[in-house]
Amino acid sequence: MSDQYICMGCGIKVQTENPNEIGYAPSSALEKETIICQRCFRLKHYNEVQDVNLTDDDFLKILNEIGKSDALIVMIVDIFDFNGSWLPGLHRFVGNNKVVLVGNKVDLLPKSVKHAKLVQWMKHESKELGLRPEEVFLVSAAKGLNIGDTAAAIDVLRNGKDVYVVGCTNVGKSTFINRIIKEVTGEEDVITTSHFPGTTLDIIQIPLDDEKFLIDSPGIINHHQMAHFINKKDLKIITPKKEIKPKVFQLNEGQTLFFGGLARFDYISGGRRSFVCYVSNELNIHRTKIENADDLYEKHLGELLTPPGPDDLEFFPELVRQEFTVKESKTDIVFSGLGWITINEPGAKVAAYVPKGVQTLMRRSLI
Ligand code: GDP
Repeated sequence: MSDQYICMGCGIKVQTENPNEIGYAPSSALEKETIICQRCFRLKHYNEVQDVNLTDDDFLKILNEIGKSDALIVMIVDIFDFNGSWLPGLHRFVGNNKVVLVGNKVDLLPKSVKHAKLVQWMKHESKELGLRPEEVFLVSAAKGLNIGDTAAAIDVLRNGKDVYVVGCTNVGKSTFINRIIKEVTGEEDVITTSHFPGTTLDIIQIPLDDEKFLIDSPGIINHHQMAHFINKKDLKIITPKKEIKPKVFQLNEGQTLFFGGLARFDYISGGRRSFVCYVSNELNIHRTKIENADDLYEKHLGELLTPPGPDDLEFFPELVRQEFTVKESKTDIVFSGLGWITINEPGAKVAAYVPKGVQTLMRRSLI
């Protein structure tokens, strides 16, 4: 029955079954004179954008649309999971449009980190990944850090054009947009939303002061994220909530570190040295010898080595090994979504293990 109702806000077909899917409205909303979906309701009444997820196909459609548009593109990444939250295809679709890169969750990094240096690092990494952003900003959407300045700079850079905000799920895009909405619209209740032409996508347009729009696209799922391989409770353990306290390990050759049961790091050769681990303060790190590591993992995954918990082992992917030789000073070995280990001196041979499907990589040190 729900398919006879259309949301007045965005034109989407209203459904009453699944609150996490687009077009949801509680049954009681259908009795009202003007029917709007929950997402439009919240945007209208609370100035608040709600999350909706998107399939890969939908994402391609959005990218195509962005390529055809004349707009400023704002791409948001999670600075704690820079590579895991990167949108790999974006640079091929931007066309002539300018891109602004926003690194969110800067509150998670140690306070000693110099923001100017980190911005330089982000510019360098973006170039390596094929994107040349016009400007790079560091913010904490949750803490409201640097939001006003970023919003003002975006307003100048857009130069009278629309603004598209893109980002993969969990980077804090909704939190960011909700902050921006408060900056740009104040208390006015003039928000309109719009249905993406020709698709079932839920795109929201927030009017700016010159008849242009801030366009919010749904969150894009990046399949390499650790988040897809663990349950919600464990995700809370591995997602840092406050400033990360780096943990330093002095290792001899032939030693291993386990990060819960989610990742493993073998120090193969390069003499005794220190390794600085940047992971959630709540994630347990266990040290052992490489020669005992396989056995330990097999016997104690889900108990000593947790997360994952005992109930999740059946569906937890095997760990896959990748070897790296550190050739530069200040290098990170990254466990996508979990954190990274900084190695200060070149000459170390190491192996990193993550669940099959998750990414490991070596990069120039972030800190
Ligand atoms: P979206 O999926 O990209 O729209 O992300 P959300 O806005 O729903 O945020 C995802 C998660 O990141 C939530 O748990 C937020 O509380 C958290 N988050 C958002 N912004 C920040 C931030 O600036 N710092 C920290 N530490 N967490 C944030």
